[in-house]
Amino acid sequence: MPRRLHLANRIGLPAAALIFAGIGVGVLLGAQRFIADANQVAHTNEVIASVDAVEARLRDAEAAQRGYLLTGDVDYLAIYQVSREQTAPQLDRLERLVRDNPQQLQRVRSLRDLRDRRIAQIEANLGRYRQGGLAAAQAGIDRDVLQVSSAIRSEAQQLLERERELLAARDLSSRRSADVLRLLALLGIPLGIAVVGAVYWLLVREIRRRGRAERSGAEANLRLRESVGQLERHTSDLAELNRYGSLLQNCLKPEEAVALTTQLLSRLLPGTGGTLYRIRASQDYAEELAHWGEHVAASAALLPPEHCWALRRGQPHLLRAHGETLHCAHIEPPAIDVELNTACIPLVAQGNQLGFLYLSSASPAMLARMDLVQAATEQLSMALHNLALQERLRIQSIRDPLTGLFNRRYLEESLARELARCERRAMPLSLLMLDLDHFKAFNDLHGHPGGDALLAGFGHLLGSIARGEDIACRYGGEEFTLILPETTLEQAGRRALEIGDAVRAMRVEHLGSELPAVTVSIGIAGFEGAGDGAEMLMRRADRALYRAKRAGRDRFECEAATASSA
Ligand code: GH3
Ligand code: MG
Ligand code: MG
Repeated sequence: MPRRLHLANRIGLPAAALIFAGIGVGVLLGAQRFIADANQVAHTNEVIASVDAVEARLRDAEAAQRGYLLTGDVDYLAIYQVSREQTAPQLDRLERLVRDNPQQLQRVRSLRDLRDRRIAQIEANLGRYRQGGLAAAQAGIDRDVLQVSSAIRSEAQQLLERERELLAARDLSSRRSADVLRLLALLGIPLGIAVVGAVYWLLVREIRRRGRAERSGAEANLRLRESVGQLERHTSDLAELNRYGSLLQNCLKPEEAVALTTQLLSRLLPGTGGTLYRIRASQDYAEELAHWGEHVAASAALLPPEHCWALRRGQPHLLRAHGETLHCAHIEPPAIDVELNTACIPLVAQGNQLGFLYLSSASPAMLARMDLVQAATEQLSMALHNLALQERLRIQSIRDPLTGLFNRRYLEESLARELARCERRAMPLSLLMLDLDHFKAFNDLHGHPGGDALLAGFGHLLGSIARGEDIACRYGGEEFTLILPETTLEQAGRRALEIGDAVRAMRVEHLGSELPAVTVSIGIAGFEGAGDGAEMLMRRADRALYRAKRAGRDRFECEAATASSA
């Protein structure tokens, strides 16, 4: 990922480069100027040397000519000729050297003219010497000769003076260039060091800034990943809770709802021990329904509700390790030194306390998930409440409230079912119809409430006499029915005798006094393998009961018409 430089560095780094380039260009220009000035000085010196050389050769030519005239020695003549010849290339060179200076070029040309004129004068004089000897030659020296010679000197002098002036000016300029160079060096070195230092500082700052940015980027990345992880966990928790809720709604028994809850909570809270408690119908105790995982601190299996703060306050009671230590009385402190985090959450539905959930863990992570746990316990409470309500309605729909026995509707349903079952398995079945004797008179004597108390007592007795498979029902009024599956007529007769004895021995209290004993008449109809349906069986039992009444009551009659007295 390309990253932009910090603003200060974006300005600072190019500025440092510019300063460096400035120093470099200054030094380069200064050096170039210094070299140019030095070249100019050398050039001027060359011009001066060249003028001197021309002058010297001319003087040599003059002197050699004079020597020849005075001595006649031809060696002088030879020297003269050599000197004369040398002046021509020297003047050419001088002319090339001053080509860029028109004034000096003019002087050099004038010098060349004067030299030519002087050479012509000398040649003329030599001619006279050869014809007329020394005297003729001397006669030939006139004012013109003097004039040309002094003009040559003057011209050479002017050339030299001008060059010396130039030399002085160029020397000054060269010195200034050197001064500028020195100044540049003096300023450039500390400035360069300062610029390098500044660049170093900027780069270090940039590196640190990037390091910080990378670190904070990495931290932000980590935080982002954590929160994504949390979100994912949260989403999966919610999905699980959702699924749990829909499963709960389809539970048929509280045990199923409890089993679902223990599965859910053991998945959601790893490393946590949990126990679900139910408050008994009597409201005096909370008892353990189920538990899972390993508790860090165990809890009593049975406890009075006031031993739990959550039940007392009707609110979750959460305790973190190293925090508050107001533990509930039902929690047993761990024997070893271990971090203890606990949570008690009441199960409440429609304002009724149904029980509570106790959780314990060595890790506080459990407490961080309390929202989820509370959502689950609320759903569980609602489900348990609804199941209890359904159960009550179901019981109400099949039970007689006064006696606690099954009602007539249930009798009809179950008789048909039991008949079919016994028929399928080729088993006998007996049906008993029971009717309290002279109950009208009893009612009249002890009042309707007294009669009810007796009916309740009789219902209780019949319920307790009934065995596992037997079905005891209140048929209506003071008439009762007992279905005895897999029971022959003979066995049923013995049971009828037992019932008659028990009724006679029954004592019922009402308004603080004991009601008098009563008797019961019983009609029995048997079913053996095949034949009549439920309705016919009932009618036959009723007929047998009628016979028992007619025969004097307090007895049973079988549908086989062979009555036997009690
Ligand atoms: P019998 O020996 O012939 O059976 O005489 P009985 O007086 O019992 O006669 P019957 O069966 O005709 O009388 C039933 C009486 O039971 C009528 C009514 O007063 C009384 N009874 C019916 N249902 C109830 C009830 O729910 N509570 C009370 N207290 N009495 C009831
Ligand atoms: Mg009756
Ligand atoms: Mg009766």
